Amino acid sequence: MLRHRRRPRTVFGRALIKAELIAGTPRIRRIPFWSRDAIDRLVDRRLRDTVQTACKHVPWYRDRVAEGALNPDSIQSASDLEDWPTVGLHQLHHEPLSMLSDQWKREECIEILSSGSSGHRKTIYLEPNAFLANALGQGRHAQIANNVVGHAPLKRRLTMAPLVSNQQRLRLMYGDWLALRPSRHSMIARVNVFASFEEKLAEINRVKPDVIGGVTGVVSNFFMGVLDHGVDCHRPRLLNVSVEGFPREHRERIEKELGIPALVAYASVEVPKLGFECEERNGYHIHEDFCVVRIVDDDNHDLADGKTGRVIVTNLINRATMLINYDQGDKGCITHEPCPCGRTFPRIFLSSTKETPLLEAPNGRVVHHADLLRPIVAAPEFVRLQVVVESPDHWRLLIESKDPEVSKAWIDTITDPLKEWTEGTVRLDVEFTRDFEMSPISGKQSPVIIREKQ
Ligand SMILES: [Zn+2]
Repeated sequence: MLRHRRRPRTVFGRALIKAELIAGTPRIRRIPFWSRDAIDRLVDRRLRDTVQTACKHVPWYRDRVAEGALNPDSIQSASDLEDWPTVGLHQLHHEPLSMLSDQWKREECIEILSSGSSGHRKTIYLEPNAFLANALGQGRHAQIANNVVGHAPLKRRLTMAPLVSNQQRLRLMYGDWLALRPSRHSMIARVNVFASFEEKLAEINRVKPDVIGGVTGVVSNFFMGVLDHGVDCHRPRLLNVSVEGFPREHRERIEKELGIPALVAYASVEVPKLGFECEERNGYHIHEDFCVVRIVDDDNHDLADGKTGRVIVTNLINRATMLINYDQGDKGCITHEPCPCGRTFPRIFLSSTKETPLLEAPNGRVVHHADLLRPIVAAPEFVRLQVVVESPDHWRLLIESKDPEVSKAWIDTITDPLKEWTEGTVRLDVEFTRDFEMSPISGKQSPVIIREKQ
């Protein structure tokens, strides 16, 4: 089901893929329960295939093979990855095309631009087969979600997302690709992340969704607001969120005080299916059929179970931007101890993620920096950005541009909508500079720095 295949252009081809989607879902649900040997065989086969393909078709790997620095035959199983070089964000920032396979043209892929944890733009290309795999992976989540909340199916869904999000673009293109017509049941209600607390509340009370998902930090902040204000809010049966932007304290209070359970996924732009919570909700089972996850020390040596180190991932599915040993920017440890749910996939426990604080204006509106900066991140002159919150009503936006003169037009593009969202409660200074600040907490160059209150 995950073979390399060109986009089907015929109705017959699309029908075949739909059939595959339906037939593939039970299998995708069963794989996590396979024996250790069977999973290892599947992973090693996909890994060998990934490495051979990358060495033949991806410039960065192909050049190193030509120089004799890499030998694709040296990778026979996941344990061999320790001797393979690590790539990081800088690669996707400076030379995204060097990681793109020549088997796919850029226009055949979905280009995902996002601002990385250092504020740099990174570019990932996803090919259609990777969407299919991700869509199949949803079957795994749906099964667990139903087990967590009981038997009545989760029908009404609501997402808190920007009007144009990567997730929405993917869904639209995927639907178009498969010639799916949106049905009444698959419609997902949407609340703009920039809406005020009261607007979000009114929409949730109107739609009465079973499940709420979307931008995790916004969902989490909204329900913390419900607790703080003590307002009457419809309680969804489940929150579908990801680990980034969902502090443990928020989860505990929302689950205990509002009685809304959360199912949290571990995901990234580079590897959309990294880990998932099972019914036990204790660590993230690694989607081993989608990726290889290693935990390493500062010298890139594999660490034993239970030891905390950097999270290094290899995407086994996407054959456009191919990433082997990619430094995810997170820290955690892995355990192979059996989980009471019966799944064989090991679990990862994260101790730190490349989490970025949300921006909160004095009028109570909450904004993710990436949404604020979406209009400029795709401009060719854009290099990186940083928001420094000097005080709740005074923000500085630092932008590095290859051509600050041309980029002056960005100032209005950013400040006008911001004025509207924050109802004029925030003064925003835009500065074109290369002089960025380090976060006092992580010591890294975070895209958002919030000064401690005096
Ligand atoms: Zn489990």
